[in-house]
Amino acid sequence: MSDIKMVNLKIDGIDVSVPAGTTILEAAKTIGIKIPTLCYMKEINEIGACRVCVVEVKGARTLVASCVFPVSEGMEVTTNSERVYNARKTTLELMLSDHKKDCLSCERNLKCELQALSNEYGCNAYRFRGATSKNEPADVTDYLVRDNAKCILCRRCVAVCNKVQTVAVIGANERGFKTNVSPAFEESLAASPCVACGQCINVCPTGALHEKSEIDNVKKAIADPEKIVVVASAPAVRAALGEEFGYPIGTNVEGKMFTALRRLGFDKIFDVNFGADMTIIEESHELVERLTKGGVLPMITSCSPGWVRYMEFYYPDLIPHFSTCKSPQQMTGALIKTYWAEKNGIDPKNIYVVSVMPCTAKKAEKLRDNEQENGYPDVDAVLTTRELAKFIKEKGLMFNELPDGTIDNPLGEFTGAGVIFGASGGVMEAALRTAVEKVTGKTLDKLDFTEVRGMEGIKEATYKVGDLNVKVAVANGLKNAKIICDLIREGKADYQFIEIMCCPGGCINGGGQPILDAYTRRNVDYKSLRANALYSEDAKLKLRKSHDNKAVMEVYETYLGEVGGHKAHEILHTKYVARKKY
Ligand code: SF4
Ligand code: SF4
Ligand code: SF4
Repeated sequence: MSDIKMVNLKIDGIDVSVPAGTTILEAAKTIGIKIPTLCYMKEINEIGACRVCVVEVKGARTLVASCVFPVSEGMEVTTNSERVYNARKTTLELMLSDHKKDCLSCERNLKCELQALSNEYGCNAYRFRGATSKNEPADVTDYLVRDNAKCILCRRCVAVCNKVQTVAVIGANERGFKTNVSPAFEESLAASPCVACGQCINVCPTGALHEKSEIDNVKKAIADPEKIVVVASAPAVRAALGEEFGYPIGTNVEGKMFTALRRLGFDKIFDVNFGADMTIIEESHELVERLTKGGVLPMITSCSPGWVRYMEFYYPDLIPHFSTCKSPQQMTGALIKTYWAEKNGIDPKNIYVVSVMPCTAKKAEKLRDNEQENGYPDVDAVLTTRELAKFIKEKGLMFNELPDGTIDNPLGEFTGAGVIFGASGGVMEAALRTAVEKVTGKTLDKLDFTEVRGMEGIKEATYKVGDLNVKVAVANGLKNAKIICDLIREGKADYQFIEIMCCPGGCINGGGQPILDAYTRRNVDYKSLRANALYSEDAKLKLRKSHDNKAVMEVYETYLGEVGGHKAHEILHTKYVARKKY
């Protein structure tokens, strides 16, 4: 017999039975009642602050916040009375009274939870007039904009930064009417040890947080007749871009995306998947060298720039564990401006490389030292998945009607190993496919290393690589990265190879991906759906191992020379710096 104690109550006259400790909000969901919320994030931000989820409880003098109020035996709850409706409406109107109401040009227009609820409740945005907070100008960094004039102080961003990413660079400053969310002492984010992950943007219910847009720079380059504008998109983009055009979560829209990119005016369409295959060749070589000839172990992947910043700020003593490989974005850009430019007789100064990424940290990565060739940056502009969607809409392209298009070669060729980079565990699996074959000289019977797949925060497995038993770990989200880093520091990590992705679930849930409202984030396994879109593509492809990518191998044969050799190091590897937190 189950020892879970059940509680019986009535919600809107309907009998409900739920485990003790369940909140009214969660209990209502079990009978199909959606109570609105603005601040609530399950287990992360249960603070009852916004008061939008209030309900009536028989016998209670005041309305209660259903997100934090537990059910009790015999309770009678009303979620939809006139009193409840009016209270929610008034709360929303008070929020709007101190809000920069520029919906028409707002980044979040039609994707804003405050706007949607205000509309549902028929709010008058100008009912309450009076003093307003002094919240301008916005804090602008290279990757993110914080416009506190649109902040409703829900603290979802604070919770995700603190509890999911364990970075904790933002919090509430001042009190009362002057309260504002910002780094300590109201410094700019740029002066803080923010890792640029953008997870705060994804959970923000309003337009207070968004990426720093680079669309105008890209448009200018496309319009410049001197410039050859080359675009390359990351694997996770094609698994989520469709959401911006009404496709179900997890639809791979790669073909339509290629057509859209061509119609936007890009001269060449290459693919960051190519750079991912290249990364695997270099990284698996580096791993095998460290395993067989000696070197710092465990070796840790370095393709997630938010994670790189985190390590540099918070665990600088572990920097020698990093693979020195540049990320797929940077490798792709570096080869476009060297190999491809030379092969086609193009002066790299006339090449403008644009990456489309699921990630805001990629905007900061392109500006790092050691990410340039011959004085030219590997990558000139980074658009997030959201920015690409905006660009497509702005140009009047009917995305859903577009035929499937094709990609350009040679830097558009990729294998399934490159595709799965977008999900947590994908880099590990891709590296193992190559490392095992390289060490044993035998073809793998089974290419799926399923133990490292999935959305669990930390995954472990041990694989036979020739005579060696290689223990690996895969962590996603910085809270889990921290656990692994602490184990290494304490000398308790018995792994040889570790994959770490900054964002929970990996790039498919990056800070530049389409916005999903809090209810969807809570109730739909969107990370798995997006990841499955990539694993399905990998399963369908004829070539699924990076070393089977002929275009990659040709770059070595005709240009770079040996894998891990001098020229490869010059172009494809980078350096890290210990950063001071303040
Ligand atoms: S944050 Fe929402 S309510 Fe505010 S201006 Fe933007 S879309 Fe409108
Ligand atoms: S970008 Fe990441 S680290 Fe920076 S404030 Fe947002 S959640 Fe925190
Ligand atoms: S910036 Fe957004 S998520 Fe953060 S407190 Fe303000 S409204 Fe909430």
